[in-house]
Parts: sequence; structure tokens; C-alpha cells
Amino acid sequence: MRIVAALGGNALIRRGQPLSVQTQRDNLVAAAQALAPLARTHELLITHGNGPQVGLLALQAAAYAGQSGGEATPLDVLGAESEGMVGYLIEQALANLLPERRFATLLTQVEVDSADPAFAHPSKPIGPLYSEAELAALVRPAHWQFGRDGERWRRLVASPRPLQVLELPVIRLLLEQGVSVICGGGGGIPVLRRDGVVHGVEAVIDKDHASGLLARQLGADLLLLLTDVPGVAPDFRAAEPQWLHRTTPAALRELALPAGSMGPKVQACIEFVEAGGPRAAIGRLEDATALVSGSAGTQLSKLRPAPR
Ligand code: ADP
Ligand code: MG
Repeated sequence: MRIVAALGGNALIRRGQPLSVQTQRDNLVAAAQALAPLARTHELLITHGNGPQVGLLALQAAAYAGQSGGEATPLDVLGAESEGMVGYLIEQALANLLPERRFATLLTQVEVDSADPAFAHPSKPIGPLYSEAELAALVRPAHWQFGRDGERWRRLVASPRPLQVLELPVIRLLLEQGVSVICGGGGGIPVLRRDGVVHGVEAVIDKDHASGLLARQLGADLLLLLTDVPGVAPDFRAAEPQWLHRTTPAALRELALPAGSMGPKVQACIEFVEAGGPRAAIGRLEDATALVSGSAGTQLSKLRPAPR
């Protein structure tokens, strides 16, 4: 099978953990163990989130603005940095487990539309959470925007829809040669094409939407969104949520899901199967193998299979 698997933020940093390289390395040992059986037997493409990482890189760059002539490093460049950094850590963790397999981390440019309404409405939270006082004391470029996250504040950036992956032919070549590819990290590097010329743009693409686009454009057999819950639950806030096992786009459309977390995952899965993708699944990273075999998680296909 050709599988596009998206690693959630939890694979790298859990809530409350420090954003250190060592933490990410430690967490990725478990992530690599979950992914290794897939890399061993399937054509595997791995994407990952970058919200905390790209936010930290932006703060680091802002702290050195004096040395860079006052320039705020743009988000496309920071996105590329985060893709290289996280991709490197994932690749190393996997290659240590599977020395006989070949891996490649690929910087991925993803075209977006300059007219995307998301540019006027920054909605994607990146970086750390701040109290009112911390935000007031923060040394930051004037154009950064912030929004509330509960009691605290977080930087918000534009998150336009991914339209086209520029490296698609290279990704295809690698997969066909048996190379497991780590790409589209942090949703990929957002770029615009104007008069045939490609240039980066200030945004962070949603990694679930980018994964869905990759799965569609590569004709994947399975879109796998790996996160920290067993699947999608209509009554998610209940004491014992009822996780959906086999479901359809029509049933999922009925649910009201948060835009910042489960919403884009479900939307990406719906778009994949409605575009002809055979199957999409959402569930826990540690259940990766069972998600592939269809025995765990929320499994989505266009039509619900008839009960046997
Ligand atoms: P990731 O980093 O894997 O993308 P997110 O935090 O963006 O993770 O999305 C997963 C989270 O979505 C879960 O941890 C859960 O708290 C939240 N969530 C919100 N609504 C639901 C729902 N109806 N069913 C399952 N999870 C939900
Ligand atoms: Mg998410």
C-alpha cells in the first residue's frame, strides 16, 4: 500500500514539556517504533506538524533582529528551517530502527492562492502561550498578531489552503524507488507563483490539509492521521466518549468539530475519500499498525461497508 501518514504535534512535544531538542528526540523514539512496521512493508510518506517549532524559530530570529538589519525572518524561511530540523530528527530515529531501509527528508514547497481569504484572517496558533503580562513584555516585530487561547494569548498566522506540491514528481520518484519520504512538514513551505516566478509567502499551512493534498496527488491507498486520541467522537467531552469506528463523509459532516484540532483532520479525510481515495483513518500514533489493518481508530471510506 501507498500510505501518507501525518504525525501530530504530540509525537514531538507533549503538553507542558519543554521545547528542547532532547525532548523531541526522546518522544520520537516511540514515534519511530510505531512507524517502523509501516516503513518496513509499505510505501510510506510521513508528514508532521510544526506549530511549536516554527513559533520558537520565529522568537529566536526576532531576538537577533539587530544582527539581521532589523529584518523579521519571514515564515516561509522559518517553515523551511522547521521542516529540515524536525525531518532530520524523524529520519534519524527511523533509520536507527531500520538500517536496511532508505529514507529521505525533502523540503516541500506548497503553492497557495494569494487571494485566499485566510491571508486577511490569521487563525493558525504558533509558538508558546503568553499571559497578559508576558505578552506586554515580549520583544517582537510590530506586525505579529495575537489571539486568545483560553486565558492566555498565542501568536496567530495566516493558514491558506494548500493547492499544489511543487516537489510532487521528486516525491513520486523516491517512493517508486522504495525510499520512505519525510516531507510536507508543517504543511510545507507556503509559496505563491506570480508570472511564472515562485516566491515564499508569510503563512503556515495546516499539516492535515497538506497531508490530504499529498495523498490525493500521489494516489495514496490510505491517508493516516496520527494523533493522541483513539479517533473521532461525536460526544468528545463525555466521560466515556463513543469513538466512531467505521464511518462515512456524510456522517462526519453532521459533527461540529473545532477548527484548531479535529476539524481539519476530518475535513482532509472527507476530501481524500470523496476524491476517490480508498480509505482514511484517524487515531493514536501508538495504534498505527492497527489503524492500517483497519481494526482501530475512526475509519473513513466513501460508503460504509455492509456488516458481515
Ligand atoms: P495534532 O497535533 O495531532 O494535529 P490536535 O490537537 O490538532 O492534534 O488534534 C487532536 C485533538 O483534537 C485531540 O487531542 C482532541 O483533544 C481534539 N478533539 C476535539 N474534538 C474532538 C472530537 N470530536 N473527537 C476527537 N478529538 C477531538
Ligand atoms: Mg493539529
